[in-house]
Amino acid sequence: MTDIIVQGLTQNNLKHVSFRIPKEKITVFTGVSGSGKSSIVFDTIAAESQRQMNATYPAFVRSRLPKYPKPVVERIDNLTASVVVDQSPLGGNARSTVGTISGLYSSLRILFSRIGKPYVGTASYFSFNDPNGMCKTCSGLGKVSQIDIEAVIDPDKSWNEGCIKDSLYRRGSWYWRQYAESGLFDLDKPVKDYSSEEYNLLLYGSRNGKGEPENPKVTGIFHKYTKTLLNRDLSSKSKHTQKKSQDLVTEMECTECHGKRLNEEALSCKINGYSIADLCEMELTQLREVLSQITDQTVGVLVQTLIEGLDRMIEIGLPYLHLNRETPSLSGGEAQRLKLVRYMGSSLTGMTYIFDEPSAGMHPRDVYRMNNLLKQLRDKGNTVLVVEHDKDVISIADYVIDVGPQAGQDGGEIVFAGCYGDLQKSGTLTGKAMLQSLPVKQELRRPSGSLPVRGANLYNLKNVDVDIPLGIMTVVTGVAGSGKSTLISKVFANQYENDVVMIDQGPITATSRSTPASYLGFFDAVRKLLAEENGKPVSLFSFNSTGACPVCGGKGVIVTELAFMDPIITECEACGGVRYNEEALACAYKGKNIVELLGLTASQALEVFEDARITKRLRMMQQVGLSYLTLGQPLSSLSGGERQRIKLAKNLGKKGSIIIMDEPTTGLHMSDIENLLKLFDMLVSRGNTLIVIEHNLDVMKQADWIIDIGPDGGKNGGEVVFAGTPADMVKSAKTLTAHSLRASCS
Ligand code: ADP
Ligand code: ADP
Ligand code: ZN
Ligand code: ZN
Repeated sequence: MTDIIVQGLTQNNLKHVSFRIPKEKITVFTGVSGSGKSSIVFDTIAAESQRQMNATYPAFVRSRLPKYPKPVVERIDNLTASVVVDQSPLGGNARSTVGTISGLYSSLRILFSRIGKPYVGTASYFSFNDPNGMCKTCSGLGKVSQIDIEAVIDPDKSWNEGCIKDSLYRRGSWYWRQYAESGLFDLDKPVKDYSSEEYNLLLYGSRNGKGEPENPKVTGIFHKYTKTLLNRDLSSKSKHTQKKSQDLVTEMECTECHGKRLNEEALSCKINGYSIADLCEMELTQLREVLSQITDQTVGVLVQTLIEGLDRMIEIGLPYLHLNRETPSLSGGEAQRLKLVRYMGSSLTGMTYIFDEPSAGMHPRDVYRMNNLLKQLRDKGNTVLVVEHDKDVISIADYVIDVGPQAGQDGGEIVFAGCYGDLQKSGTLTGKAMLQSLPVKQELRRPSGSLPVRGANLYNLKNVDVDIPLGIMTVVTGVAGSGKSTLISKVFANQYENDVVMIDQGPITATSRSTPASYLGFFDAVRKLLAEENGKPVSLFSFNSTGACPVCGGKGVIVTELAFMDPIITECEACGGVRYNEEALACAYKGKNIVELLGLTASQALEVFEDARITKRLRMMQQVGLSYLTLGQPLSSLSGGERQRIKLAKNLGKKGSIIIMDEPTTGLHMSDIENLLKLFDMLVSRGNTLIVIEHNLDVMKQADWIIDIGPDGGKNGGEVVFAGTPADMVKSAKTLTAHSLRASCS
């Protein structure tokens, strides 16, 4: 079997490296974050393979495919077709469910069309995405959204006092004037004194609440909010709009189908007493049980295929899901495992599968099962590439490529390549980390108080009573699906909304041009330094403003649209892609112009800048382990773990807050985790409360308090099975987490 051979790779920070990757083996890429693992695996291997695949399609297909830039490499040989199995969210709408994404729902539909009683029709009659099958009331969504308009009205106030609790309607604003100048309202009358006709005018623009608006400029605030908030994807809208939507839109179960999404005819069709919707509400283990009782030989093969699919989902640690679960509500780790399962069912061989930290979100107990799936994928004749930090995953590697020695400019080399046994002897950071583990913390902090949660019942939680200690670091543990996020990120965070700061891995809601410098708020200071040094206006150092290159208008590229062909995107020749005009580029601070300054990594920048407004923030980047990021790197290029850490950097100055983090070690090397723990110490010593959902055993050992949710996942979880110190957990607890923690101490 010929190896994949990469020669002279200089993508991103890589220093002209050459290496081989054995085919039909599991190769794990290790190294501190920012060392260059993704640059090799995603930006080079995956990108080049997909780019070459795309090139085989005709131009009109190509123009519809994603574009993969050519990696900066001298030569790559023996690539295969590749599939990236990453943690990006799965399809973003309510019509996409675990059932539709896994393909199991379509098999169930065929099953019902064959043996369901009474016979209804073809498989499309069981689809909630097809007019034949969907509930007409909710169009197959299972729920309807409603505007809670009263939440936005302050009944004690008049128009002049600001009766609409939305800054868009503040006194004197454009919206306010539409109403105030319509002549329809007494501007000094509080809303609670309105007659029902006046109230209808306010809400619907007409006195009876139904007809045409009396004044075309006043269509009613109910209609206004319905139009802007209902049935729309608001993810790209402003924070203000998203917050409003959260406050005003309530989702209610559809009263027609009761959340089952299908029409009466489809729901009346049953197999062994269950409708297709009943099956989709069951946890996968129970569904398997029900399917295995179908004895009709005519559908034997179909049932067998369904059961095999279910077994893979159960085996990979998702037994607690149900097929009707909407995919946007899955965590990154769950999404990745679902994708893995989908590919496990594939009959293609000879592919290269690429995984990004597949252990993310997994309890140590479940990692070995996933390891088995990776091995099966290999044994079917595929090449498996994995970026990982987890010891248990690294230990199954046939081959390890360790990238380092450090991050950014100080990384980019292959410091070790060989088998797992030799890695441990290699003396690299990863090699050393394989041999050590942190001790269980003995000197614990005392809580300054606690916040109660009583009778929590959301999803699988079983009347949970728990006290969350204040002023210390609590780690919340438990297998995937046990209820950690439901208890902490949903119930607790909602109850104490005003005191809680959530630092998650979700997208950063800022403009697409955001960079660490703009997000952390020191870009202005950099521009001011340049302006002062050169006696120029600050706006000259902004490519959205007077600093823009006149040829490309600050875009850095020229796009030439061609009919029936890919548009041609070329780097702007005038500015060489750097977006700024000559006048801006001619100005320097300490010998570096704006582009060169933004190209510095945080650690390099610390040697250039002295201004405290800047250095303070740069040190924060360092503290959260992001010193390798450049000041101008687009935030859109960050991984989930990096996004979470840059949000953490932004919140480092907090005092007296309750900070919640979900798996902050995602993407972190064992040596980075020690730094993160120091940072947690600092945050707690400043009077913050830290609540961390984690599977990492070193983090658990360093907690002041552990709350373990279990005993297992889904309906078998939802209880607090242990609350106490790490030492107590190791000593006497009998939970799954205690078992893993004890094993790692011996
Ligand atoms: P790892 O996967 O090991 O965490 P990466 O390959 O993501 O590391 O990053 C290696 C280096 O390349 C880092 O210094 C990172 O900031 C830089 N880098 C990664 N992606 C980009 C990009 N799109 N533009 C500029 N620099 C990048
Ligand atoms: P953990 O954080 O421990 O992995 P979760 O809190 O995400 O677990 O999930 C606990 C249970 O609640 C699981 O059975 C899960 O399927 C269910 N659940 C979580 N989120 C939702 C949701 N949005 N809709 C329906 N069920 C959910
Ligand atoms: Zn309905
Ligand atoms: Zn230009």
